[in-house]
Amino acid sequence: TETHIIMDETAIRRALTRIAHEILEKNKGIEGCVLIGIRTRGVHLAERIAAKIEEIEGAKVPWGELDVTSYRDDRSDQIGAQREEILKMRPESLTIHDKRVVLFDDVLYTGRTIRAAMDALMDCGRPQSIQLAVLADRGHRELPIRPDFIGKNVPTSRSEQIEVALKETDGQDEVRIIQQ
Ligand code: 5GP
Ligand code: MG
Repeated sequence: TETHIIMDETAIRRALTRIAHEILEKNKGIEGCVLIGIRTRGVHLAERIAAKIEEIEGAKVPWGELDVTSYRDDRSDQIGAQREEILKMRPESLTIHDKRVVLFDDVLYTGRTIRAAMDALMDCGRPQSIQLAVLADRGHRELPIRPDFIGKNVPTSRSEQIEVALKETDGQDEVRIIQQ
């Protein structure tokens, strides 16, 4: 196997700072927005962007975490499983109803996780809109889904894998591409 570093700590920080500004620009501020991260690493990205936006705008940004495992179309055995714990908001009293939801994930590939995330969100309320932010877009979409905010476009072959290390889970910030 061969590994190449495609984003170091500085590159990740700059990409997230840019995305924070892009979110503010697209939404003309942050009012009515909620940031929702897909577990696990998408949650850390959402939390970091919320902190950056608070720094830039001086306003608190609600954020939350979404667990989409029971909504995956390839896990149909779990449909109908307990759904109360799927969305956790900070603060907890907040809902996504009528909100501009910005979804976060680390890597976008076929789009099936995002489809599942949208299904899960719709079951939790009716957002005014849903936008998508990803740290790395590796291509190979199988559904008509495109991100609004992209850290880095990473053209990959199907045999390659992207490894996303974040301080919160992995002790350092780095994105690598691995050729098996
Ligand atoms: P999709 O559902 O779009 O096929 O895949 C996206 C989901 O699977 C994301 O939640 C992402 O974390 C994970 N994923 C897919 N491909 C990769 C990859 O190459 N590297 C990493 N780290 N995650 C991936
Ligand atoms: Mg994931």
